[in-house]
Amino acid sequence: MESNDLRVSPRRVLADMTPYTAGKPIWEVQREYGLDRVVKLASNENPLGPSPKALEAIQSLLPDLHRYPDERAFGLLRALSERLRLPEECLIVTNGGDELITLLSEAYLEPGDEVVVPSPTFSEYAFGARLMNATPVPVPLREGYRFSTDDLLAAVTERTKLVYLCTPNNPTGTYLPGPEMRRLLDSLPRRVLVVIDSAYAHFATAPDYDDGMAYVREGRPVVVLQTFSKIYGLAGIRVGYGAAPAEIVRSLLQVKEPFNVNALAQAAAAAALADDAHLEASRRVNEEGRKQLYDGLTALGIPYIESMSNFILAEPGERAAGMFEALMAKGVILRSGKGWNLPRHVRISVGTREENKLLLSELAAFMKSS
Ligand SMILES: *Cc1c(COP(=O)(O)O)cnc(C)c1O
Repeated sequence: MESNDLRVSPRRVLADMTPYTAGKPIWEVQREYGLDRVVKLASNENPLGPSPKALEAIQSLLPDLHRYPDERAFGLLRALSERLRLPEECLIVTNGGDELITLLSEAYLEPGDEVVVPSPTFSEYAFGARLMNATPVPVPLREGYRFSTDDLLAAVTERTKLVYLCTPNNPTGTYLPGPEMRRLLDSLPRRVLVVIDSAYAHFATAPDYDDGMAYVREGRPVVVLQTFSKIYGLAGIRVGYGAAPAEIVRSLLQVKEPFNVNALAQAAAAAALADDAHLEASRRVNEEGRKQLYDGLTALGIPYIESMSNFILAEPGERAAGMFEALMAKGVILRSGKGWNLPRHVRISVGTREENKLLLSELAAFMKSS
């Protein structure tokens, strides 16, 4: 029911906030285009599905669903603590990595504070900043979407509170090499909190890749973000975590809702964490798939950026929008670059061998006809 005389105003900042653009869900494309087979290569999900161990854990927990979940996700916390060689007080489990970004924003940002965000990158960092009336300060990536430590340092002012580093970066697949990360952290003032979003760490194969975890162990002002949504294949159940010095975790816990992570998510994540076979298989499928897509894109003459992640940023140029639409109509969902102000690009998640093959054959058909 629409009413004409509502006098209730939302906060002014909401007028400047753009909602997150998610990858199109499979059911929507099936319905819109009347398709049975739809392949989604749009949200960097694990094409192998969840770990079977996670599914078993969920099953066995179902009879206990009348109980509230553990406030601190203690079982998962203990498992993470052992894996990461970090005390439990240096870890916080969240409702997806996204919630950690919200908690960081709520715990640390005053109106007018500045948040340094490389650009293009994951949109939630700027979203969290705006929500708190803080100011995102975009720092463009250089040629080939490489990070520049000097550019990031030059953007820091008296008001800088947070610096976000997404490495490997979404949507470019590029990363900040280890020695550059160290130089950046050594050069920043200690009052600046650096958020190292290594959601895609498990896919990185470069020898000088650094997920930032060692800096947490050193007690630096660093928060490392991780998620169970990507390589662990649990995007639908919503669970991620942060690692940081205990003092920072204490501040984050102050703004957290008590039961932020549901019981099934806690159990599933703990089981997935222990399933090394599934992790290894997922890594292998991704590495082979990346290669398969590189070869296919090269053969079609479509430029791309080499990726340390489970997606590839391709640059079909003028044809990007047409390609995105045409593939959708054929049941292959990609992510348009428009949301990142990259109208000449599309982002392609790495699928199974079969899915990649289907994508490449639809791409070939499109290139021929356009
Ligand atoms: C997917 C993703 C996350 C976390 O996603 P959740 O599903 O909320 O855990 C965080 N950062 C980046 C860059 C991502 O791509």
